[in-house]
Amino acid sequence: MSIRRQILYATFCMVFVICGGIRSANAEITDRHREVVNQVFTRLLAVMETPDGWESWPPTITVIDPGIANAYASFHTVDGVDVPYVEVTVTTIEKIANFDPDVLAFTIGHELGHLYYLHGHKRLKHYKEFGDKLTGIRLAFTREQELEADQFGMELSFKAGYSRQGLLKDLKAWRNSSAPYCQFEGLSVGHPSWEDRAAYLLDTPQQRALWRSLSSFQTGVMFLENQHYAHAESCFRNVTEEFPECYEGWANLGYALLMQYCDALDEEDLRLLDIGHLVVGGFYRRPDSLEPPIRGTIEKLWFEAVGALREALRMGERLNVKDDFVMVKANLAVAYLVRPGGKDVGQAELWFDQVFTALRNEDKAKTLDPLVHASILINSGSTRGFNEDLVSRTLKLLAKAKTVRGNVAAVAAMESALQFNQAVALTANAAPEEQKTALQMFENYLDGMTSASSWWPLAYNQYVKLAKAAGIPPKAKGEFRKPGIKDWRAITAVTLRNGTQIGLSDKMSAVLEALGPADVEIPVIEGTNFKYYKYEKLGVKILATREVLAIILESSAAPELTIRRPGLGGAEALIALGMKRQELEALVGSDWDVELTHLFDVKTLHQLYRDLGLAVRFKDGVVSEMVVAVVPLNK
Ligand SMILES: [Zn+2]
Repeated sequence: MSIRRQILYATFCMVFVICGGIRSANAEITDRHREVVNQVFTRLLAVMETPDGWESWPPTITVIDPGIANAYASFHTVDGVDVPYVEVTVTTIEKIANFDPDVLAFTIGHELGHLYYLHGHKRLKHYKEFGDKLTGIRLAFTREQELEADQFGMELSFKAGYSRQGLLKDLKAWRNSSAPYCQFEGLSVGHPSWEDRAAYLLDTPQQRALWRSLSSFQTGVMFLENQHYAHAESCFRNVTEEFPECYEGWANLGYALLMQYCDALDEEDLRLLDIGHLVVGGFYRRPDSLEPPIRGTIEKLWFEAVGALREALRMGERLNVKDDFVMVKANLAVAYLVRPGGKDVGQAELWFDQVFTALRNEDKAKTLDPLVHASILINSGSTRGFNEDLVSRTLKLLAKAKTVRGNVAAVAAMESALQFNQAVALTANAAPEEQKTALQMFENYLDGMTSASSWWPLAYNQYVKLAKAAGIPPKAKGEFRKPGIKDWRAITAVTLRNGTQIGLSDKMSAVLEALGPADVEIPVIEGTNFKYYKYEKLGVKILATREVLAIILESSAAPELTIRRPGLGGAEALIALGMKRQELEALVGSDWDVELTHLFDVKTLHQLYRDLGLAVRFKDGVVSEMVVAVVPLNK
């Protein structure tokens, strides 16, 4: 088949303008046209997965001037290889987008969607089989492809940090550009009407995919899982500003705020609150947490957290979402247990009641992650006490959770918390046997839990008291916590192949001075300095605000990393992209021992070696990505 014919059947357009539409008489193609198109194209490709099915990738992009508003995606066949390309017209850049990259992003993303799904090849195949017959089917098929490309273009443009305002402007401009055709006419030209497309994209089920694909939502998830709550907060604030109806954004914002509040609580606060050991992400002293917080500020955090969690519930109700919001309600219960000025057991109980009412439905309880379920039971023990029934139900859930890969570390932390709570309950009993058991339990807790936890000193005081009462000399603080497979020093810097060393929390201005401008900058939050900086030739991407927050090693040009055992002259090992999965896991542990976490994409899991400050992804049995990001917990 000739190239001409392939182009005829494999070319797609944003709008198939039969008549009417915007025409401009032979405008000039200038550098300004090319620059804005290239800039958007590069930024979109930087966050797009390489699609299967193309021998030649990435595609090229050209500005053309046929005198109409349009965009195309297709391929040439050169020496038997299909070479993809995208074309955008001058009229599109001028009249539709008015040179605004935010507006162009969706149009170009849509064309990349056609390439990603191999729509051209699929249409050719259809043509070979049926020729021009079955027009109805072909057009319906085309309409489906258009909607599929729309969805792809939208997700991709959000992932690249373009705004929802841009998408709305783009849809509006296209609609105004041609005579509005109805659904039937739309069908006859193979494109759904703009009204249909807008409804499809902005409809509620699509909204879900849409806000989750937002760059700031995904980065926020990474920060939550890595316990950088302040950074997570700014991400989710951005999400809820752009999408006020995004209840998941509100729920996560509330959690990020509540955890910052909890991090600011110290040993003395916990003593005053007189609550059991809670199991949520907070209560750790970490380098990036608020340094000595001012009372007024942390109280504000609490009120904002509760406000955001309630907003999540309100929005869910308004949108008629079929969800009991068990996690949101459980977090509200925890919030009232740590309320500024003293715990509010009444409110906490009200929320726990709602949670347990929802969980009485056995089918619903079964769908809840056993780890989450166990955490709810442990936290509820703070108000309801740790009776045998609660302990045995919790242990059963933890045993079940342990059979899931990547849960071992989290289960161990919960077992420790449970031991703490049981030990406190036993201490209240004067019988010497019980006191001895309590002593043993506190000792286990101190061994198993990091001393950065605010509960740790409370446990240590209890342990010393019980040991002295039993006439046993207590161990010093430093004697606890046995070394294990996680016994590596945290990675805090990466030396690139060009010799430049980049450390976490380095000034980004200094990095830019050393490396020069990045090939692509992808904002996490539009209009701020919260960005990804991608350096293709160095194989890395840097996530930074004013400071470096994460270094992502993503291609073969990325350097190896050296990991070291603690202590002077500790042994070293090299880890690198392309390394066999078993080799890496022999050094630092497998996904049974570590946490599994979503870093940049809600669909992709990384293995998180929290103490090492490293997250790793595998593809085809080898290391395909490494992220140096996590500021380790203080030892
Ligand atoms: Zn199209």
